[in-house]
Order: sequence, then structure tokens, then C-alpha cells
Amino acid sequence: MDANMENHDAGALLEQAAQLDAGDPLARYRSLFIGTDTDLSYLDGNSLGRPLKRTQQDISTFIGEGWGGRLIRGWDEEWLDLPQTIGDQLGRAVLGAAPGQTVIADSTTVVLYKLIRAALATVADPVRTEIVLDTDNFPTDRYLVEGIAREEGLTLRWIEADPASGVTVEQVRHATGPATAVVLLSHVAYRSGFLADLPGITEVAHSAGALVVWDLCHSAGSVELELDGANVDFAAGCTYKYLNGGPGSPAFAYVNRRHLPGLKQPIWGWMGRKDAFEMAAGYEPAPGIRSFLSGTPAIFGMLAMRGTLDLIEEAGMAAIREKSLKLTAYAVQLFEAWLEPAGVELASPREPELRGSHITLDHPAFRNVTAALWEQDVIPDFRAPHGIRVGLSPLSTSFAELFRGMAAIRDQLRR
Ligand SMILES: *Cc1c(COP(=O)(O)O)cnc(C)c1O
Repeated sequence: MDANMENHDAGALLEQAAQLDAGDPLARYRSLFIGTDTDLSYLDGNSLGRPLKRTQQDISTFIGEGWGGRLIRGWDEEWLDLPQTIGDQLGRAVLGAAPGQTVIADSTTVVLYKLIRAALATVADPVRTEIVLDTDNFPTDRYLVEGIAREEGLTLRWIEADPASGVTVEQVRHATGPATAVVLLSHVAYRSGFLADLPGITEVAHSAGALVVWDLCHSAGSVELELDGANVDFAAGCTYKYLNGGPGSPAFAYVNRRHLPGLKQPIWGWMGRKDAFEMAAGYEPAPGIRSFLSGTPAIFGMLAMRGTLDLIEEAGMAAIREKSLKLTAYAVQLFEAWLEPAGVELASPREPELRGSHITLDHPAFRNVTAALWEQDVIPDFRAPHGIRVGLSPLSTSFAELFRGMAAIRDQLRR
């Protein structure tokens, strides 16, 4: 392609970004986030979402009036209930979960540990000795299950997932059977962005007599979920990714209400007890989802996510998913125009409906390219061995911002 043609091409693609932004019904939400009035291109909202402007005020008010003014009274007046209050809002706005099944607690790693152990205790069948998982799941998921298998004397059955795509219903059908206790999978794959068939896989696992634990870290706030509708057993996810809860904000846990009576989670603490402040002898679990709690809730870490949940309730997950599909489609279009001819590979599904809200691009130079991009305020992330992950958070990302970021990758690659 000669330089003139290429400029023409870039001009048309830039014009397209402007049109997509002008026609975006969610465009007005972007200015509610800090830093969106600069030229910085943030393509990593799937790792750490941007803060909302109102979060500054919310945290300041909390310090002045809540923590500073109510002091210890705050626990009785509000804070002790927040894991469930915010959990219910998350269930309603994001998960497709009726109240009483979701709590905010711990970190995703710890929540997943507790859920997998609870799922095994629910199955409680000595013949079911296998946990099914896939080779491309997020490291913490794989390590956790390796540890649990060792603790409980169980066997791991690994599904070999295609790293540029993900786990299929057929693979799960093949891997499950009378020996399966639990299936642990990610709904949106952290590398490829592949969107697994959650209802289909859940059904296949159930028909084999197993229970499912879904990791929703890259789905919560980016794709529509119907956990109750799909009859999911257990699920967990992060709140610092698409839910903008801030670095290290606590995770969420979903336990389907049919598993709540007699739920056995492994970390018995006072906050999960029937009456935490009785300080009585012996552990007796609280009724319902409260028994999933272990220790004192991280109230500070729950403040920021409330702003995003309010926005999601206003915008609706259907509109958020629609914008996400347009963002990833435009990213793929820019990839095809500029990066594919330069030898970059798309390590994500080409079909929009098989993607979450990020894509991964592979090229041997990308480790160095990413470092150079960060220096110039273009911020995707790097995933070993040589992937740039372009994360597109629908409420805060504009098409023009994506254009700038992809153009910078193109230019950096030419150096
Ligand atoms: C981000 C992520 C996690 C992170 O778990 P933490 O306990 O918050 O560190 C777990 N699973 C998946 C799939 C993730 O993408």
C-alpha cells in the first residue's frame, strides 16, 4: 500500500470512529470517569477499571461522615449489611440473580477456594472424585484446584483449550461423567476473550450429575448474565475490572439458593456465624448467603463499585453488551487494516458473538512494544508469551480512544 492510499484509509477509519461515537447511546457516560478528558488511550479496563468522578466524593464523604462521624456505630447502622446489600444490587444489575444469593467478600481467589470446597461438600459423593478444568484458565484457578485436589485426594481432568478460542460444550460433555464432582471454568477467557456457552455447559455438567463453578471475572459488567435462568450452581468474580471497584476491591460470590440450606464453606469465622456478636462457643452458620462470610468485610473497598452498579442499572446490561460488541468489532477492523498485514495474529474469535469485551493480538515484538506504548500514555496490557490484550470497557471507552491506541500499536510496530 502506498502512503497516499494508507492515509486515505486511516482518514476513513478515523471518520468511522467519530460516527460510532456520535451514534453511541452510552457516550455520555464516559465523561463521568476521571481522566477521560485527556488523550490517554486506556485499553485495560478489563484489568483495572477507571474510577468514576463521584467516587472521589463518595470516599471523602465516607471518611468525614461515615467513618469519622459515626465511628464504631457505623457497623450496626449500615456496614455489616453492605456485603449483602451491594451483593443484591450486583445480582440484580449484572448477574441475573434474585436477592439473597450474592455477597461481596474476600478476593476472587479466596472466594473461588471457598466455593469449590462448598461445591465438593454439596456433591458429597465418594464415587465422584474428579474436578474438570481447562489448561488455559487463569493461573489462580488452576493453582487453587491443584491444591484442593491434593487436600481432598481428588483427580484433575484437564480439558485442552484452544488458546485463541476456548472451552466448548462438546469438550465438557466428553470430560464429564459419573466420576465428575465439579466443573470449574471461566465464562470469558482471560487471554482470548472467548465467551463460553454458560447455559449449554451448565446443562451438560448437570446431566452428568456434576456441579458448576463459574469464574465471571471478565464477564461481570461486560456481557449479559442470567445465572438464575441458567440454573448455575456457584459463581465468583472480580469487582475491580469492569465494575471499577478500585485496586484490590473485594470479590463477589453467588450461591444458587437451592444450595444455601446446609451450605458448607471451609473458612468458619465469626462474620458467618448465626449471631456474630454473641461471641458464643461453637460455630453455627448464619442462615442463607451470610454464612459464606468469614471475617470483617472490607467496607472501604466496597465504596467505589456502588457508583458503577448505579450506572449499570441505569444503562442496562443489554446496551452495555451492544456497545461492547461494536467496540471489539471496530478493534478487529483496525487490526485487519493495519496490524494483520504487519504479521500480527488475532488470538481471539473472529465471530463477535463468541467474544467478551477484549481481544488479544500476538506478535513477537509485543513485549517491547507494550513498554513503549505505556511511555506514551497508550495503555493496553501484555500477556505472556507475546500478546497485547486490548480491553474495552463499554461505559468508559470511546471509539476515538480505541483508534488512537490501535494507531499507536501500528506506529510502534514499524519502529
Ligand atoms: C483477574 C482474575 C482473577 C483474579 O483473582 P484475584 O484473587 O482478584 O487476584 C481470577 N480469575 C480470573 C479469570 C481473572 O481474570
